[in-house]
Amino acid sequence: MNQMSIPPVAAEAAEILARLGVDGALLSGGTLQARSPLTGEETARLHEDDAGAVADRIGRAHAAFLAWRAVPAPRRGELVRLLGEELRQWRPELGRLVTLEAGKIGSEGLGEVQEMIDICDFAVGLSRQLHGLTIATERPHHRMMETWHPLGVVGVISAFNFPVAVWAWNAALALVCGNSVVWKPSEKTPLTALAVHALVGRAIARFGADAPDGLCALLIGGRAVGEALVADRRVALVSATGSTAMGRAVAPVLAARFARQILELGGNNAAIVAPSADLDLALRGVAFAAMGTAGQRCTTLRRLFVHEAVYDRFVSRLKAAYGSVRVGDPREPGVLVGPLIDRAAHDGMRAALAEAEAAGGRVTGGERIAVGGEDAFYVRPALVELPQGPAGQPAVMKRETFAPILYVLRYTALDDAIAAQNDVGAGLSSAIFTLDLREAERFVSVEGSDCGIANVNIGPSGAEIGGAFGGEKETGGGRESGSDSWRAYMRRATNTINHGTTLPLAQGVVFDV
Ligand code: NAD
Repeated sequence: MNQMSIPPVAAEAAEILARLGVDGALLSGGTLQARSPLTGEETARLHEDDAGAVADRIGRAHAAFLAWRAVPAPRRGELVRLLGEELRQWRPELGRLVTLEAGKIGSEGLGEVQEMIDICDFAVGLSRQLHGLTIATERPHHRMMETWHPLGVVGVISAFNFPVAVWAWNAALALVCGNSVVWKPSEKTPLTALAVHALVGRAIARFGADAPDGLCALLIGGRAVGEALVADRRVALVSATGSTAMGRAVAPVLAARFARQILELGGNNAAIVAPSADLDLALRGVAFAAMGTAGQRCTTLRRLFVHEAVYDRFVSRLKAAYGSVRVGDPREPGVLVGPLIDRAAHDGMRAALAEAEAAGGRVTGGERIAVGGEDAFYVRPALVELPQGPAGQPAVMKRETFAPILYVLRYTALDDAIAAQNDVGAGLSSAIFTLDLREAERFVSVEGSDCGIANVNIGPSGAEIGGAFGGEKETGGGRESGSDSWRAYMRRATNTINHGTTLPLAQGVVFDV
């Protein structure tokens, strides 16, 4: 496809939004500039919500919760099933919009929508499985049981790099659990949020009057809008996905009002390539995890520990892969690495590479590539070989830089590599490549990786709906998505029922009146 035949991004985005049913008036005349990282061009000027609009939307969501909680859970699941149908039908359009707005390559844009579909399927089944226990009681003629109830308004704050999936991970579960949902998407990706909400509107229209007005709300704006959502006492749970810095700002506000929180924050993820590794497999796993989505995944591989016995062989092949990967406009066929989100991301990458060089690192790649114009930021992924052993990770390596930089260190003893891997705050995801059973088992054991995700012979990036996603350390310990995450969106009550004629209070206590 030649550059001339590609329609301007803004026009294509507007055309997709119109087909999904988004009111064109929402796209112009506002103060929030939406941009595409593909070309740097402006795609829309949206109207930002002020404090009054935020309060109003939360108030209506709270009223919606009061009605929605009384709708039987399997019926609530029906709404999520219909949403899944809409997502299936509009997957190509929504996936394409993710490419246009977040810069992901086509398969990743579609993959993100697929994750939305998968969590809808998961949540529909869950709507018939919100089980509590019956508990053996010490009191005669009594029955004790636990019952799960919804929380209220669930606030969702999402990051630019998963502009649609993160909302779905939260919303599908929150809705079947009986909550209403208010979403503050990233200010860098408002168009995909508008598109998702148009699909929610379609699902609700098919579902009928059981879905109260205001059940799902969208807030457009930046940090101030997120802050207003977090501070509002009517929001029972805030699920916030983004940088560790954002989490540090949000967590104390929630703690001060004793609100629930799910924080999915940064990731400074590592992999270990052991001497017995299948190097072909490891090469593919490492290359995809480190370079995919231009290093802008929370699970991107950022640190690599390679055993000295295979270091030279493996790292030379990895460098060749770095040299040959196709970087460019993701609308072009064959492109595997798209743009950085914006200029600030590029500045952050340059600064990190300079710091790594000052720490003795040898940098391969990392240069800017002239694609898409001066406001678009395409870079060749960078590989930084460091002279230190695993104990000597420089400060820059212990920080998450949200760009495609892979730091590589040589190790001798597995326990040193594991200790170094664990020696960062944001330990979200991890992997080992080995064919040695003892090494693999040690890595996933209590003495191994301390991350929320620990993989063997598969890279750290990506997650599957069935396994709850998330980190357990500085990442906030949040676990969105599958597994037993639904409990985070509900509260537990214990009910004791006396079907006898006496009132045993506690052992030895008699209280006759
Ligand atoms: P960011 O922290 O800049 O912004 C995330 C969201 O938080 C945005 O919607 C933003 O407006 C909002 N926000 C920022 N400050 C806030 C505040 N004080 N109060 C309320 N809301 C606030 O992150 P980003 O640049 O959009 O995304 C990249 C980061 O997100 C990376 O660190 C990445 O690792 C992380 N991330 C984590 C996961 C995960 O599941 N753990 C998934 C995706 C992204």
